[in-house]
Amino acid sequence: MVSPLFFAHSHEWKILNNMENISTGSVLKIAIQKSGRLHDDSVKLLKDCGIDLKNGVNKLRTEADNFPMEIYFLRDDDIPQYVEDEVAHIGIVGENIVHEKNKQVAVVEQLGFGKCRLSVAVGRNEKYENVNFLQNKKIATTYPVLTRRFLEKNKVSAEIHEISGSVEIAPGIGLADAIVDLVSSGSTLFMNGLKEVETILDSQAILIKNKNLRSEQQQILDRFLFRVRAVRKAKNNKYILLNAPNGRLPEIIRLLPGMKSPTVLPLAEPGWSSVHSVLNEDDFWDIIARLKESGAQGILVVPIEKMII
Ligand code: ATP
Ligand code: MG
Repeated sequence: MVSPLFFAHSHEWKILNNMENISTGSVLKIAIQKSGRLHDDSVKLLKDCGIDLKNGVNKLRTEADNFPMEIYFLRDDDIPQYVEDEVAHIGIVGENIVHEKNKQVAVVEQLGFGKCRLSVAVGRNEKYENVNFLQNKKIATTYPVLTRRFLEKNKVSAEIHEISGSVEIAPGIGLADAIVDLVSSGSTLFMNGLKEVETILDSQAILIKNKNLRSEQQQILDRFLFRVRAVRKAKNNKYILLNAPNGRLPEIIRLLPGMKSPTVLPLAEPGWSSVHSVLNEDDFWDIIARLKESGAQGILVVPIEKMII
């Protein structure tokens, strides 16, 4: 017969274990967009960070298999509020939403996707010279707060019509003289006979956090951030391999700073070396051209998966 003591102990152990979870609050709750433009890239970022999500048992919430993280799928507009209220500890959302909603959250990191701008657009045939064009006009937008702030800054008074979507058709149906909306390629504006005339805000997806995170959550966030930064760094850098005659190595090495300095290995063919290094995407094409001028041959460029410096 199993001793009652055993049950008592195992029960206590369970309670203790749960209490530990409660007292350390050892899960980081992240809010991401449920569906829409930021959803796929947000899930991909988690995946690239080695965080595997359990397949949607329920569409609102899931958890990670291998990281102390719970994932909440929400409308992007609601994410700043949930993070302020600590329903979620952190969230991924567009800067545009964070500024519009004006909630008490801290910005942790820009994430490099979901890039767009909040712009003013008017009919293609309008003679727009400067913001004074907007004086006493009607402006349709889903961003009344940012629009008002922009108008005040420019000392223009105009009537703001807050609408909930399809802003770009407002001028065409006579609802407004101008719009303030998000633009990325500009093709939606073009198709609706509009032109972009002012940029109010440049935006991208950012990681936000509750301002009063407990140290347990902050620690998990730090572990997560370490991975996010390694993934982002890797995306911005490429691994490059090339062959070069030994006589030209000094000038080639000068072009390739690498993480510390390039690796140089002798080729089987005498007088030649293979040079390996890491290149930043920003000056990538420029350096490739100069490497060729310096006698580099057989240049290979490969993606880097993670980069820890
Ligand atoms: P939700 O149902 O979550 O409220 P939504 O329709 O408000 O979604 P989306 O259109 O999915 O929002 O856009 C989400 C975010 O993607 C925007 O807030 C913005 O940060 C970013 N974004 C990037 N490019 C664009 C674009 N061209 N138009 C609109 N949003 C863009
Ligand atoms: Mg929304």
